[in-house]
Amino acid sequence: MNTVHIKFWPKRLTKTLTTPKTTLYDNLVVTARRYPDKTAVYYYGAQYSYQEILQQVNNLAGYLQQKLDVQPGDRVILYMQNSPQYLIAFYAILRARAIVVPINPMNTTNELSYYIKDCEVKTAIVGQELFPQIEPLQGSTSLEHIIVATYSDYLPEELKIDNLSSELTAPRKENLKEHQFLWKDVLEETITPFPYGGKSDDVIVLPYTSGTTGLPKGCIHTNETVQANVVSASYWLNTTSDAVHLTTLPLFHVTGMVHSMHAPIFTGSAMVILTRWNREHAVQFIQDYKCTHWINISTMVIDFLANPKLREYDLSSLSVIAGGGAPLPEAVGEKLFEATGLKFVEGYGLSETISHTHFNPPDRPKLQCLGVPAFEVDARIIDPVTLKELGVGEVGEIVVNGPQVFKGYYNQPEETEQAFVELDGKKFFRTGDIGRVDEEGYFFIVDRVKRMINASGFKVWPTEVESILYKHPAIQQACVVGVPDPKRGETVKAFVILNDDYVGKVTEEEIIEWSKGQMAAYKYPRIIEFRKTLPTTASGKILWRQLQEEEWKMKAK
Ligand code: AMP
Repeated sequence: MNTVHIKFWPKRLTKTLTTPKTTLYDNLVVTARRYPDKTAVYYYGAQYSYQEILQQVNNLAGYLQQKLDVQPGDRVILYMQNSPQYLIAFYAILRARAIVVPINPMNTTNELSYYIKDCEVKTAIVGQELFPQIEPLQGSTSLEHIIVATYSDYLPEELKIDNLSSELTAPRKENLKEHQFLWKDVLEETITPFPYGGKSDDVIVLPYTSGTTGLPKGCIHTNETVQANVVSASYWLNTTSDAVHLTTLPLFHVTGMVHSMHAPIFTGSAMVILTRWNREHAVQFIQDYKCTHWINISTMVIDFLANPKLREYDLSSLSVIAGGGAPLPEAVGEKLFEATGLKFVEGYGLSETISHTHFNPPDRPKLQCLGVPAFEVDARIIDPVTLKELGVGEVGEIVVNGPQVFKGYYNQPEETEQAFVELDGKKFFRTGDIGRVDEEGYFFIVDRVKRMINASGFKVWPTEVESILYKHPAIQQACVVGVPDPKRGETVKAFVILNDDYVGKVTEEEIIEWSKGQMAAYKYPRIIEFRKTLPTTASGKILWRQLQEEEWKMKAK
């Protein structure tokens, strides 16, 4: 067997990149000291300096602590679209030494209720249009306080983005109930927060993922795990204080959070924040603000390139276009190079590793490739059954050890234990992705062990979708699988056995319609197939992989 000799990468670079023992909040303080008047955020024509941002962070932190009794270690939900408030709220929660629970704004009341219960949330900071989704949970769960952020508070008067204009969705103060607060009122009070004593091992964020099995679980990340990737991202992509980031990825997800928010704050660069992806805004802002860095997901690149006016804009300021979360088709990478002269830098990582563990070297990227292990990351390929290490070219599970690897799943000791494997006396996280490594140490993904559907980079967990489908009175059994889709890469299909009373009385379309109202738009099944039976193991477990493979084989024909 050939042993993989790729560890020269992390070993050679370890010395130059020690994770700071300081906290993420310290990054903002240091940057605001170095560059007080520098623009931190451009928001559709408005701009906010680092000093202004820090001031608002501290005000909000004081309010959280002293008016809402947020204690160190409390979990606070952040349920909002990208905006200056997102960033301010994130750092205010850190300043209060509480834990950020970032929630995808596409999630609905059902899903929110799960997260609130799972980590016993008492306080939430939410975007105006999402308030109606979370309000019913106030009082009926542990949720006590809600702060509602109005996006237009930070927008130039004349600008309206889609349905986010204040008249349409912003709640009025007079309609708010007890324990509901408007962001504007909260920020008006100047309350000095308690002295800060943040430590590098404080838990600071719980991004939710299903990992390899089951329902969503919170990944425990500390200042140290996040700092590791903030520093690594900044070095890898040559970010300096002169950089201008186009922040288009959602900030609730680890890649956007680390690469388009925390890393720019660490280096003191500017962020041009988009609340909604819009290709016209993207090119306009790249030209106007001379953006240098754009971290994205493949679907954004495809849409960006489809803009017929693309060539009318000056994109010459761009020096890095990078992304991950889903593979970028080779042909798209080539078109991007034609349009911008830049090679796409693909990376790879997971919520458990707070974004990347792998990155392509910007000067030697390979297309449709995860890249090489980043600083201090030891990545290997193992046989998922025997757990023995495999060699170059052999296909197996990707496992990683590094400073960004999470501390475990929140309140899930068994799942946590199963997520790791020991090799050479070191603990490696089992990614659930099947891949291989080439002679140069570049990793490639070929399949997944885990039950996850990657629909345009949005991760759908079949178990969660099934658990919602089972609430429908007609459904006796459901099995959700990923099937190929020309636009989304993969999409969601459910095989359903109906209860006898419902056979012939309910249609596939009705179940799809019902599902739309029950879960986030990226999750609901686009295809339903009624079956009389489903293949099972002797113990009665549905053989989802068999069903999924049949679908892929059929589509390949
Ligand atoms: P998440 O926890 O939402 O960040 O999802 C992590 C998963 O996204 C990984 O386990 C992979 O299956 C997938 N993923 C991440 N980066 C890539 C990439 N560059 N190519 C293909 N799949 C990726």
